Amino acid sequence: MKKITFLITTVILLMCLCSCSKKDMATKQTFAFDTVVNISLEEKDIHLTDTVFKMCRDYEKLLSRTDPSSKLSELNSGKTDSVPEEIRDILEFSLKLSEITGGAFDVTVAPLMDLWNISERNIPPTDKEIEQVLPLVGYEKIDPESLTPKNASLDFGAIAKGYIADAVIEKLKEENVENAIVDLGGNVALIGEYKVGIRDPFNPGKVFATITLKDKSAVTSGAYQRYFEYDGVRYHHIIDPRTGKCADKEIASVTIVSNRSMYADALSTAIFVMGKDAVSLCEKYPGTDAFIIMENGETLTTDGFSEKYNLALN
Ligand code: AMP
Ligand code: MG
Repeated sequence: MKKITFLITTVILLMCLCSCSKKDMATKQTFAFDTVVNISLEEKDIHLTDTVFKMCRDYEKLLSRTDPSSKLSELNSGKTDSVPEEIRDILEFSLKLSEITGGAFDVTVAPLMDLWNISERNIPPTDKEIEQVLPLVGYEKIDPESLTPKNASLDFGAIAKGYIADAVIEKLKEENVENAIVDLGGNVALIGEYKVGIRDPFNPGKVFATITLKDKSAVTSGAYQRYFEYDGVRYHHIIDPRTGKCADKEIASVTIVSNRSMYADALSTAIFVMGKDAVSLCEKYPGTDAFIIMENGETLTTDGFSEKYNLALN
């Protein structure tokens, strides 16, 4: 059987096309969270990239699932049951979102991610294999008081970059930064006003649309980001934890714009799993809007999106 594996390792979901501010910006790059991190600041602030990159390394030591010595790995393996404040924050938000979404968003998805192993696998797992793993997944396995996972394993792939981007923006604001583009592998958070390109999910080298954002974050979840194809079917990295299979709601990509990057990150994944009718979820989170591209090329947005963000389709 012919198999094609696609993996965009440096996943850039959105591209900052041009700064609307008058200031010249410089960019520094590092690799963290399995992706490329670009931080753009005014020349006078560029030394702060050292602080930001240190933050990235520290968060990786806390939240990485691939590093066996990270705090998250220690929790997952039962080596510790003390939950650091940052993990508590992420878990408290995630548990609420799991309840609201009826389990479509669920950070206990780790055993399914291991089974699907999208970057290595060539063939989808069998239904029997999925059935065997499903009982290991479920947000109710996280003790709501202690927030320790009981016979469960956590994966923050859908939310960590958003959480970290918020922390970086907060730090930069403390340092009186007035212009910044924080791009954690396409998870973009901004201080100041910028024009941002939304990738074309059907032709990821191209821009599908542009929006103008001020002091906002934008995050895209899409089936084009990490996937393999088998027998003409695409298998991607966003899994419906209730079925154990790739989410398939005829969505090509969901872009969420929000005041908080954590909301944008988590909601883009949640809405991708639930389908277009779940855009109404945005109403629960202040300053949060959605732009969805369907597999058939149609687009839909939350009310007033085009005017608020000066949406221009390419
Ligand atoms: P994103 O690219 O932000 O949509 O997140 C996808 C990543 O989140 C995957 O690589 C997994 O690590 C994790 N993930 C996949 N499906 C789910 C889900 N339904 N709920 C929570 N996390 C998920
Ligand atoms: Mg996400």
